[in-house]
Amino acid sequence: MTLQAELLKTLKDYPDFPKPGIIFKDICPLLADAALFKKVIQNFAENVRATGADKIVGIESRGFLFGVPLAQELGLPFVPARKKGKLPGKVVSQSYALEYGEDQIEMQAETLTAGSKFYVIDDVVATGGTAAAVGQLIQKQNATVAGYGFLIELSFLNSAPKLKNLSPKAQIHSILVL
Ligand code: AMP
Repeated sequence: MTLQAELLKTLKDYPDFPKPGIIFKDICPLLADAALFKKVIQNFAENVRATGADKIVGIESRGFLFGVPLAQELGLPFVPARKKGKLPGKVVSQSYALEYGEDQIEMQAETLTAGSKFYVIDDVVATGGTAAAVGQLIQKQNATVAGYGFLIELSFLNSAPKLKNLSPKAQIHSILVL
């Protein structure tokens, strides 16, 4: 069975969660399946190697679940991108639009050394607004995005053109494109 087929069998959809109209993709059954989760991390690791990235940045909060084991597998540093006000010390912020209003994402300034090549990871990419904000934050510090990795890409929400436009040299790797 392909990795994609195994994932389709394992992941669970919750219609109308957390609000009407959203089909929530629950990754918890994947986290509970150690053998399948290992295959997912190895799949991401192969892509990170191909991009030449030297740091993994996970997007709060489910991006951490993939980013930390991925960084360990590769022997690379893991760096969190968190919601406003969660990280101590000097931070760099980037605001981004939500369906209603806006939010801010932050990284610790000391992790954003110029010339670093980041691999940005999250569980699901929907509109791509959050991943794009992390990309912008990295790029405005004169670091680069070598790649974006997602377990699931909801392709009807068109994140790929947005991320390609922002980071033309970055690879976009989605294990499951729905
Ligand atoms: P976006 O900025 O629109 O790409 O939204 C991405 C963030 O929202 C990610 O951190 C995802 O974890 C979460 N997300 C968006 N849509 C879904 C969905 N249908 N199921 C699960 N998580 C989602």
